[in-house]
Formats: sequence, structure tokens, C-alpha cells
Amino acid sequence: MSPRRIALRITLIYVTFGVLWILFSDSIVASFVTDVTTLSKVQTYKGWFYVLLTGVLFFFLTFGSLKYQQTLTERDALTGLLNRHMFRNQLDRLLQRLGKQHSHCTLILINLENFRQINNTAGQQIGDNILKQVANALSEQFAEKALLGRFAGDEFALAISDEQKLDIFESLQILQSNLEAITVPASPDLNVSARIGIATYPENGDSLKSLVTAATLALEEAKILGSGQIRVYNHRYGEEAQSRLEMLAELRTAINEEQLSVVYQPQFNLATRKITGVEVLVRWHREGKTSVRPDVFIPLAEQSGLVHPITDFVCKKAIQELKKYDLLGKKKAIPKVSINISARDFDHVSGADRFFERFSYLDDDWSTIQLEITETALMENFDQALPLLHQIRDKGIRISIDDFGTGYSSLGVLRKLPVRELKIDRSFTQEITENENDLQLVKAIIAMARSLNIKTLAEGVETTEQALMLKELECEEIQGFLMSPPLEIEQLVDFIARHQP
Ligand code: C2E
Ligand code: CA
Ligand code: CA
Repeated sequence: MSPRRIALRITLIYVTFGVLWILFSDSIVASFVTDVTTLSKVQTYKGWFYVLLTGVLFFFLTFGSLKYQQTLTERDALTGLLNRHMFRNQLDRLLQRLGKQHSHCTLILINLENFRQINNTAGQQIGDNILKQVANALSEQFAEKALLGRFAGDEFALAISDEQKLDIFESLQILQSNLEAITVPASPDLNVSARIGIATYPENGDSLKSLVTAATLALEEAKILGSGQIRVYNHRYGEEAQSRLEMLAELRTAINEEQLSVVYQPQFNLATRKITGVEVLVRWHREGKTSVRPDVFIPLAEQSGLVHPITDFVCKKAIQELKKYDLLGKKKAIPKVSINISARDFDHVSGADRFFERFSYLDDDWSTIQLEITETALMENFDQALPLLHQIRDKGIRISIDDFGTGYSSLGVLRKLPVRELKIDRSFTQEITENENDLQLVKAIIAMARSLNIKTLAEGVETTEQALMLKELECEEIQGFLMSPPLEIEQLVDFIARHQP
């Protein structure tokens, strides 16, 4: 309620009371007292009584509204837990008290892993409801035993002093399973899971600020490790976070100054041995320092919103280089170019035009382009990705599912997707001659793909045995160190000249 409304409410109650008093008090007194002198005495007492009564009325009205205001500033309106500011305030007081008693305290930060996805898929109302249920689960388990707060949108905080003699890890395991039991209406395959960062006072931080920083770093580490992780602060995290920040700053410069480069790994038809295409892989060579591998900097870029400019760069550079040597085209040395795209490329699907802008370097024929998206990225963003995938297909661009076999897509899901190729993950390729289970799995993938009229390509082929086995299984294409490592453009030109089937 606004201050104006609160003041208006108090005034209205006061005026109503005053009017009723004037209207009725005199007639009530007159009906009991008729004697004039007694009446004047009673009138005086009545005046005093009125002052007393309105005093009490004022007390309760102002007390009530001040208390309401205080709850508003202390508590989070949605969950009723302490808000960030008040949580920090009360934690500070708790730490000061515990410090004097030489006692300890554990600060626990809890982040809901897939909240953004729940909000996007199920809607904000259901999202709010989930947050309330999480707050209830926390209150039921920890009320009276811990300081509880909502730290940010999908982040909660708990502070437990060692006076409570709680087994923290056991309690957190119980909490995890209570949270996992929360169901998301209309999206039964989504469930709530938490990543947790822990820091203790005074070991990991002897002030409010340093304790919160330590717990935040532990939580960041848990987020990197993924689903359901609990991490206790380790002093390394501070250094690692620092070096991640430094690397991120360098990566930004590298992107802006176009210091990244691309290499090409040829792909082959197993039956004809002809080159069917190349996969473009990004490289980051740092001047005077060791190179950083893409599976290190791409996830970093994904977390920091830097992946769009990387995808832009890779597309532009690859298309320019391949055009320069006149390699790309249906009837040319390289019939298709395969480009890796990230799940984050699907985030701003409203800008589909923006998505396609990056292929404008290729005139109008986009049928030589293939986009690789990993199975896991696709499954996590399925609803968002599907319309864009159809648009991509309608523009003539092909779609390949990368690292296939590591995610959980079913035949039913695959049938809905406009996919041209499945890329069998290299972990299977490499075990195919050693491990019967992997062999059976690859067989099943190839059979399923064939039934859906989708091509298969096995990546990471390193030995002749693997290649022969794949040929026997009737896998169509292969890629790997056996035939060629990723090559720079000039090396690729040489390779093509030497590789005449
Ligand atoms: P990926 O898409 O699965 O790429 C294949 C990776 O396997 C490449 O590593 C490649 O060098 C490596 N490889 C190729 N043949 C063999 C083999 O026979 N044996 C073994 N052991 N490895 C082989 P790279 O280039 O380090 O890339 C790693 C990952 O980084 C890629 O995995 C991809 O997920 C990501 N990545 C690379 N370039 C890009 C890019 O331009 N954009 C995006 N979004 N991701 C990229
Ligand atoms: Ca790939
Ligand atoms: Ca792959």
C-alpha cells in the first residue's frame, strides 16, 4: 500500500469514529442522565474518555501499518522469506554474535538449475508457483534452525550456525530430494533441481562480504559442474574465477580484433572414399601464450553471451576462405561445409533474420551449408529450437545432430525434426571394435537413422579396423584422424590436390 493510501485509511477510520461518536454519544448519555449538573460532569469525562479512546485507536492503526511496511521491506513479496538486503543484515548480526562466542556458521547458496527453462516453457505463473514451493520446502525443513532468504530470482540462501548441530550434508541431500519431488504442471519431463555452494565462517571468510563471496564462488563452481552438484568453497576457486575472468577479457579482444581462426576437417564417403564435406572448427592461438582449446573457451563464451559473435566469425571466415580457393559447391572439391552452432544461438529466435544474416556471404545457394547442433543442446531447447530448425530447413540449409548417442532423444522426437544427418559420437566410434555394447548401440543408431531416411556419419575414426567395421555396418560417412586431422585452409588445398580417389 502507498503511504498516501495508508494515511487516507487512518484518517477515514478516525473521521468515521469521530462522526459516530458525535452522533451517538450525546443521545446515549442523555438517555441515562437527566440531571443538568451530572450531565455537564459526564460530558467532561466523556471528553477525556474520547481522547483516551482515540489515542488507543491511533496506536493500533499506526503500529499495524508500520509493521506492514516493515514486512514489505524485510520480506520477499512472493515467497515471504527475508529479502537479500535483510538476509545480509541479519547474517551480519549473527556472524558478530558467533564471532564473540568463537562459534561457526555455514552459508549455503542454492540455485535452481532449470528455472529459466521452467519459466520459458511453463509460463511465469507456474514459475512463481515453483518458487513458492521451493520456499515452503526450505521453511518446512529449516525454519527455526536457519536464517532463510531469497537471494535473487532463482537463488536462495541459508545460514546455519553450529549451535544447531545439524548434519549439513545429510540435510542438503534431503532438501535435494524434496526439491526434485516438486512437479511442474503440464511439463512432466521438467523437474526442479538445485546446485549448491557452501562456505563456512570463519574458515572460508571471516566477514559478511568474504563469506558471501566464498559461497558465491563455490556456487559458480557447482554451476559449471552441472546438475545436482554441491560444492564446498576451496581457495582455488577464487584463483580459477580470476583466471576465467581474465581469459574472458582476452577472448573479447580476440573476437573484436578477429584473432580467432578456423580449421577444416574433411569428411568422407565410406563406399566411394570421396570427400563429402568439411567440418569447420574454431581455433584461438594467443600471442606468446598456449592456445586455448575450443571445448574450454566455447562453454566460457556460452556463459557470457559471446557465442553469437564467434558463430558469426566462423561462418564469415570459413565461407570467405573456401570461396577464395573456389572449393565450395555441389560440383566442386567440397560439396558441403558443416558449421557448429551452440544452444545459445537459439536463445533469440525472434531474430531469425539475424540468424540467417551470417550466411549472406554465400550468395543465394545455401544448400552447401550444414549446421551441427549437439543432441543435448537440442533436447534442452527443443520447443524454442523446433520452429527455427524448420526455417533453417526451408532455406535449404541442412541440419546434423552432433555427438549423437550422448543425449536422450527418442525415435519419436527425431521424427519431428527436419534432420539430414546423425553424427555418431566419437566415444562410440572409438569403442566399436572393443566393446560389444557400443557396437550394438551404433548398429541400432544406423538402423534407426535409415528407417527415418537420415544419413549417418561416424566421427573420431582413428584406426582402419574402426573404418572397416563402420563400412560393414553400412554407416555412410566418416571423419577422423585416420584420414585427416583438422587442417588450415592452405593445408586443405594441398590435401585435396593429393587426395584423388
Ligand atoms: P565436436 O563438434 O565434436 O568436434 C570434433 C572434435 O573432435 C574436434 O575437436 C576435432 O579436432 C576432434 N577430432 C576429430 N577427429 C578426431 C579423432 O579421430 N580422434 C579424436 N580424439 N578427436 C578427433 P576440437 O576442434 O578441439 O573441438 C572440440 C569441440 O569444441 C567441438 O566438438 C565443438 O563442440 C566445439 N567447437 C569447435 N569449434 C566450434 C565452433 O566453431 N563453434 C561452436 N559452437 N563450437 C565449436
Ligand atoms: Ca561438431
Ligand atoms: Ca561431435
